[in-house]
Amino acid sequence: QAKRGGRDNHCTYKDSMTSEAYNLMSKSSGLKQALQNNELFVQYQPQYNSFTGDVYGAEALVRWNHPSKGILLPGDFLDIAEQTGIIVDIDDYVFDIVFNDLQELKQQGLVSNDFSLSVNVSGRKLLSENLLEHLKICHEQAPDITSQITLELTERDMITKLEKCRNFIDQIKKLGFKIAIDDFGTGYSSLATLKHLPIDILKLDRSFVSGLSSATVDYVIIDSILTIARGLHLSAIAEGVETPQQLEALKTLGCQTVQGYLLSYPINLDELIKLLIKQSPPSLPLE
Ligand code: C2E
Ligand code: MG
Ligand code: MG
Ligand code: MG
Repeated sequence: QAKRGGRDNHCTYKDSMTSEAYNLMSKSSGLKQALQNNELFVQYQPQYNSFTGDVYGAEALVRWNHPSKGILLPGDFLDIAEQTGIIVDIDDYVFDIVFNDLQELKQQGLVSNDFSLSVNVSGRKLLSENLLEHLKICHEQAPDITSQITLELTERDMITKLEKCRNFIDQIKKLGFKIAIDDFGTGYSSLATLKHLPIDILKLDRSFVSGLSSATVDYVIIDSILTIARGLHLSAIAEGVETPQQLEALKTLGCQTVQGYLLSYPINLDELIKLLIKQSPPSLPLE
């Protein structure tokens, strides 16, 4: 085809791709390099007991220390990671950091056996056979700490393959790990997820927490989710707590664990360690 139109119409490989596809390709090779060069790192957002102010645990969140653009947040690169499948490697990388950090915190005597770290796992990762293999190896290395690691999954990722997910989750739980449903309530299938999957923790999405003052729809929704959680013996964690009013409402509703900018931004491991050291006697920053 290119020949018939003469030399000027000759298409290079690059021209024939849409600019979107080209963008994707160049960004994904950047991400692969980032992994190899250890440009990805983890910050931890502490999670607190809303009543005692104790640090209950922390959620690991990936960041990219980009050589020219500075620190990038997941919103800047996770879509591409998902589309290209690199997310599977990123999740392994993050998991290993969390696994090592938790062992370190325990060895230093900084955390009790109740303390837990949580890690986000993409649906692509969950359904790839290699997650289970990876978790089995970790379990062999340190079987006593798996119960202190929570895998955060989203309903959106699981609903189309509930049966397969259930099978994976059953095996993951046999190794001792805990399972949380992230952004709970934002999927179109929240109740089906609850009914069919053996989960431990519900994370109440920020979008409900943000409108939380008495007599709002969000208040009723959170109240109802907490009632379901209690009835099913699940823990609940409220995400995205930004104001004292939201925290008060959550306490009134009996939500025991909270996470959000009001209490702490995501911080580096050394800052988390400082927080854990000064945590006794425990106190909420608000009180
Ligand atoms: P998520 O798991 O729901 O994590 C909570 C997000 O809300 C984080 O954004 C956190 O910084 C932000 N956040 C926490 N408190 C507040 C608050 O009070 N107000 C507001 N406005 N935001 C708050 P981040 O770090 O940008 O992560 C975004 C999403 O990227 C995460 O949402 C998670 O779905 C995904 N993610 C992060 N790290 C990983 C990872 O290692 N693997 C995978 N597969 N996904 C990840
Ligand atoms: Mg999460
Ligand atoms: Mg969330
Ligand atoms: Mg979210």
